[in-house]
Amino acid sequence: MRKTDTVRIDLHCHSTASDGTDTPAELVAAAHRAGLDALAITDHDTTAGWAEAAAALPPGLRLVRGAELTCVSPDGRGGWCTIHLLAYLFDPQAEAVVAEHARTRAERRTRLHTMATRMAADGYPVDADTLLGDLPADVPAGRPHLAQALVRAGVVESVDQAFAELLHGRNHYHVPSHKTLAVDAIDMTKAAGGVTVLAHGFAHRRGPTVSAEVIGDMAAAGLDGVEVDHPDHDPEARARLRALADRHDLIVTGSSDYHGTNKTVRLGAETTDPAMLAELVSRASGAGLLVGS
Ligand SMILES: [Zn+2]
Ligand SMILES: [Zn+2]
Repeated sequence: MRKTDTVRIDLHCHSTASDGTDTPAELVAAAHRAGLDALAITDHDTTAGWAEAAAALPPGLRLVRGAELTCVSPDGRGGWCTIHLLAYLFDPQAEAVVAEHARTRAERRTRLHTMATRMAADGYPVDADTLLGDLPADVPAGRPHLAQALVRAGVVESVDQAFAELLHGRNHYHVPSHKTLAVDAIDMTKAAGGVTVLAHGFAHRRGPTVSAEVIGDMAAAGLDGVEVDHPDHDPEARARLRALADRHDLIVTGSSDYHGTNKTVRLGAETTDPAMLAELVSRASGAGLLVGS
């Protein structure tokens, strides 16, 4: 039997609303089976899984509604790098969030239109206006749509082939996306009553990371916490992040970054101290913590 004095909290999990393999309902059921007391649903750049997870919440399980936002930040060495920011307990209907959503949706469509236009100019049988015209406004436009059009036109045999040969980032048809600045995402989340935690900040295996100074700048800009215990952090990365959290008075979290069967990590493989979750919740006013009944 599980010890009642051990509260287990996992604050970073993905569902089929982004790149996980469990539906939001399966995710909360799995969390319950794994003996978790609280979990956060944090799909990439979307809150699409919130309602299903909330509706399926098993008795006693607490749900922190969140999202993992893809942002860019100065890396502290004169360049830029992509970072992930966990945004929790914000109101997705808040003006700041709705405006940012509309901006990225429009930007995705413009980007796809430009890529299709460049390909048409080179003689590929794709029409940018038709492609965009056929896409419902609420569907996030992306390269897969162009890939499917190329398959339909018989240019390639599969979406994979379209990406490998024509749509990859080094090809001149490719238009890079314009990502949100980390400090703007921190502001936006705060304006929507939420809190922010830097995800896997020193996970060097994933690619370039920001410097300690940049994390200090983010703290000054209103960042609430840092994810310290993450499967991709080695002991040294954890120690450095913990020291930074101390110095800048940041909340420390731990989480599995569960993706279902897309990754081998188990739910609850890393956990967050209940006092830290309580602090996050006390700072938020956008979307409350839900408890299954
Ligand atoms: Zn991430
Ligand atoms: Zn993640």
